[in-house]
Amino acid sequence: MPARLLDGAAVADRIRTEVRSSVERFAAAAGRPPGLGIVLVGENPASEIYVRGKMKAAAEARVRVDLERLAQSASLADLLSMVDRLNATEACDGILVQSPLPAALGPDAERRVFDVVRPDKDVDGFHPINVGKLVQNRASLVAGTPSGVIELLERSRIAIAGTRAVVIGRSDIVGKPMALLLLHRHATVTICHSRTQDLPRVCAEADILVAAIGRPAFVTRDFVKPGATVVDVGINRVDDRAMVERLFAPGSKRHADFERRGSIVIGDVHPAVEQVAGALTPVPGGVGPLTIAMLLRNTLRAAEERAGRAG
Ligand code: NDP
Repeated sequence: MPARLLDGAAVADRIRTEVRSSVERFAAAAGRPPGLGIVLVGENPASEIYVRGKMKAAAEARVRVDLERLAQSASLADLLSMVDRLNATEACDGILVQSPLPAALGPDAERRVFDVVRPDKDVDGFHPINVGKLVQNRASLVAGTPSGVIELLERSRIAIAGTRAVVIGRSDIVGKPMALLLLHRHATVTICHSRTQDLPRVCAEADILVAAIGRPAFVTRDFVKPGATVVDVGINRVDDRAMVERLFAPGSKRHADFERRGSIVIGDVHPAVEQVAGALTPVPGGVGPLTIAMLLRNTLRAAEERAGRAG
């Protein structure tokens, strides 16, 4: 039997609707909406698309967005002073610096920027103080993608407590916070990475398998215990016809999408996993939409907590 598909887009819609009504309550009480400052450096086309998506969703939720653009040639000092300005702006509750930053800013630019965002405005949950609170299970601002995965699992009534969970990927933005969130919900968690030995065997023990790798269709059937829940975080744009034709039959919807656009987005999970897994997040339409919904929820939360402290 094919896996049950977990509809991330529908769950994200529900979260955005909930956020919107809380935003309206906040705005009525505070006399202003929650505010999100987005900093975009340079002209990365993928970042432009992501930022547009975030701005549209924010507008629908009645969150105010200020987009601050810096030129490709901006220095790290320019960027840090922009963040400082947003740190000091009263009506700005959340700050998001869009990744990736231009390579010319240096290899540790992202870390330096995330470190200067005020922790109470850190709606991406990347500041070391918020990461430390996450480790201690007392964070309120947690990275959007992993917290979106938890929302999707919980609202889809997938049990987490007592399960064996395996996370492939140990990045600061997905893999590590994902593992911590599962741990805090009482899963027994294993984190895998590029040095893990016998990866398919380790993964095949999982009741919940999260793939956050960045390699299209990497997780094949042999990684998956029959009936397991498989969460595909990967977003990989593929324009390689041979790969698309290996994965999707001619005449299938994905194949037709490729013919129309010249590329498609493929997750880290092979399509054949649908025949083995009990539940699966599709790509697109699985985890992706939740990331933005959680960003809005974090912005609302930051606004409420800041207002609570002020009052
Ligand atoms: P990173 O590149 O930062 O991390 C990838 C992780 O995968 C690393 O820990 C790496 O191991 C591991 N890895 C790479 N190759 C292998 C391998 N052969 N076997 C086992 N592990 C491997 O990526 P991110 O965490 O930032 O993103 C992961 C994916 O999720 C990407 O496709 C990205 O586009 C997507 N993404 C999706 C989001 C969404 O909204 N849905 C948001 C953010 C990311 P090691 O540490 O040893 O190098």
